[in-house]
Formats: sequence, C-alpha cells, structure tokens
Amino acid sequence: ASLWKDLEAGPPDAILGIAQAFRASTDPRKVNVCVGAYRDAEGNPWVLPSVRAAEQVLMADNDNKEYLPIEGDADFVNKALAFAYGDEMDVHRIAGVQTLSGTGACRIGGQFLSTFLPGRTIYIPTPTWGNHWKIFAECGLQAAPYRYYNRATNALDLDGLLEDLQEAEDGSIILLHACAHNPTGCDPTLKDWQRIADVLEEKSHVVFFDSAYQGFASGDGEKDAAALRYVVKRGLPVLLAQSFAKNFGLYGERCGTLSVVCGDADQKDRILSQLKCIIRPMYSSPPKHGSSIVRTVLSDEKLTSQYYKECATMADRILDMRTKLVTKLSEVGSKHDWSHVTGQIGMFAFTGMSKEMCDQLTNEYEIYLTKDGRISIAGLNDQNLEYVAKAIHAVTD
Ligand code: PLP
Repeated sequence: ASLWKDLEAGPPDAILGIAQAFRASTDPRKVNVCVGAYRDAEGNPWVLPSVRAAEQVLMADNDNKEYLPIEGDADFVNKALAFAYGDEMDVHRIAGVQTLSGTGACRIGGQFLSTFLPGRTIYIPTPTWGNHWKIFAECGLQAAPYRYYNRATNALDLDGLLEDLQEAEDGSIILLHACAHNPTGCDPTLKDWQRIADVLEEKSHVVFFDSAYQGFASGDGEKDAAALRYVVKRGLPVLLAQSFAKNFGLYGERCGTLSVVCGDADQKDRILSQLKCIIRPMYSSPPKHGSSIVRTVLSDEKLTSQYYKECATMADRILDMRTKLVTKLSEVGSKHDWSHVTGQIGMFAFTGMSKEMCDQLTNEYEIYLTKDGRISIAGLNDQNLEYVAKAIHAVTD
C-alpha cells in the first residue's frame, strides 16, 4: 500500500477551473470572459513594446544569472515605490521588498502582520478577489468581511462599509483595493475616501492596500494611485501590496513589491530586516527577469513615456469595449439598465447576473465566466461582442 493511498484530491481553483474548461471546449463559438489578463482587439495576449525594448537592453547588457538579494533588486524597488507613492514621497521611511507579484506581496504582508500584530483581525471587502481569504488564512490571520457592494443597487455600499469599519475593534487591519476593485469594478470616489480615512483614523485601523491595477484602470498611473497617496498623506499606518502583472503585462514573470510605511528611517531598517527574515525560509530570493524589465523601463525617460502610452492603450480599449457592450445590449433588445457597467472601472464588469444565468451562458452559449456574474471586459472584442450581448440578453430577458 502506498503512503498516499487515502489522500484525497484538493478542490479545484474556481477561476483556473473555468479557464481549463474553456481550453478543453472544441465549440467554435466559445468565448473566454473569465480570464483576468489583457487581450488585444484580436483576442491575443499583448507583450508591451516597451517591455520588449527593455528586454533588448537587458540582452545587450549580457547580465549574469546570479541570485538577487533576499529583498530583491533595490533599484527596482525604489522605482516601483516611486511609481506607487509618487516622486515626492520620502522613500527613506518606506520599507520595501520585491515579491512574487501581488499574491506574494499579500502573503508576505499578511505574514508580517500576523507575526507583529498578533491577534488582530483583517477585514476584507464583500465581495473580493477570492484568493484574499485563502492567503490571509495561510498567514494565520483571523479574517472577517466588511460590506462593500450593494447588489440591489449595483453600487458601493458606503454606509455599510463605514458602519462595519466603525464596529470593528480599534486597531484592526483593513484590506482595501487601491483602484479597480476586483470583482465589482466599483471604487470609492475621492470624497468617499475622505470619509473612509476619517473612520480609519478615528479607529486607529491599519490599512493594507492591494494595488493590482495601477494605470490599468483609468489609463493614468498617477490618477489610479490617488487613494493610496491620499491615505498615506493623512498619516495613517499603511502597507502596500503592488503587482506589475496587469499594468506591465508581466503576469508570468511574478513581479511586485510589498512595502510598509514607517515613522522614520530607523524603523524602516528594522522592518526591512524582519521582512527579510520572513522571505528567506519561504523562497530565499525573488526572480530576476520581471524586476529587471520594470527597472529598465522606469529608469529610462523615453521608455517610461512609451510605457505610459501603452498602458493607456490597454485601459482605453477596455473602456471602449465597456461602452460598446452596453450599447450593443440595448441594440439587441435588452430593456435592462446596464449603466452600472459603464460606471465601473478596470478589467471587469460586475453585471449582476445570477449563478443560474452564468451557468446558462456557459452551458448553452459556450461563454465562460465566473459564477458571480463577473465578465472580463478584456475578453471582449469586435468579433465576439454581438454574440456575447445577444447571449446575455437571452439569459436575462
Ligand atoms: N489582487 C487583486 C485584487 C487581483 O485581482 C490580483 C490578480 O488578479 C492580484 C492581487 C494578484 O495577482 P498577481 O499575483 O498575478 O500579481
């Protein structure tokens, strides 16, 4: 008998399982609107030309394959932090480490909080990116939900959110999406952020920003960083998980940072050393290629401005498809109010469709999406738009 004879298989990942079903389908009508990755107007992945240009520079440099330090490439981290916090931010009081993209950043940040703020609960929005719950549980953190979205009105539940933050124990950890909330595409306005920050401050809460879409939302990285910068400016304790997967199209390169805003440079040094202690036994040091690309792009003025334009190209195509989807739904006869879809921002539309409607879309129309009614706008293009709109109309009529 084998040692593992009684071991049962783990549950499949909800999103990756749908992607697998899409790949397995041989139906020519099939459409993938589950994918959380950018697709161009022809439905193909897009490597940004600025990223390709940076790779050419790296090739010409003929760099070696030595290990990066535990905390990653310091030049990359500094550029990445300036990208997020803004040039005017005093980086001498931010402890930042390179991470395995946004997921790794959440994991390191969660571990840090679990170790150094033991017993505190992390509050997570309802709904949220599904992995948040699992990541913070792995870190040994107690997690609880806070209200974020009102499904009846398809809008931010600001009162519910403020009430839940108010009722949480003082000094709780609050996870906030920095922009382009996944899956709802619904962000607080700057005025809302002021009210949220008031409560965060009053309750001495610790803010954990997850920033997976900076620049990808509006097309302007500066604008998308406004909430983070505002909260930091208010002097609240902030951690930031930063991903370069979507905005640089570096999905598989696993490139990101985790940073902790500290009171002064001395605190920064101590926190940085503790972050290194967490990373060393976990994976020793991060991969080199993705961070070298981001460092190269953000160190060169010409490549940086090229990059900003290319990031805007992705955001603009998505904003365009968002409008086209709503227009097309009306053209094919839908009488529903879909205006929330154009009001949303980022990769996804949170349509409000029920699980049964989603099942019907997949089973009868070969349209693959998550069961919460979330559609990846990146998966839409002029070729499949009408087909998708007609199918949505058919299942929601
Ligand atoms: N956080 C949010 C809200 C996300 O939507 C994602 C990816 O979909 C991530 C973090 C992490 O992605 P990655 O680990 O690829 O950077």
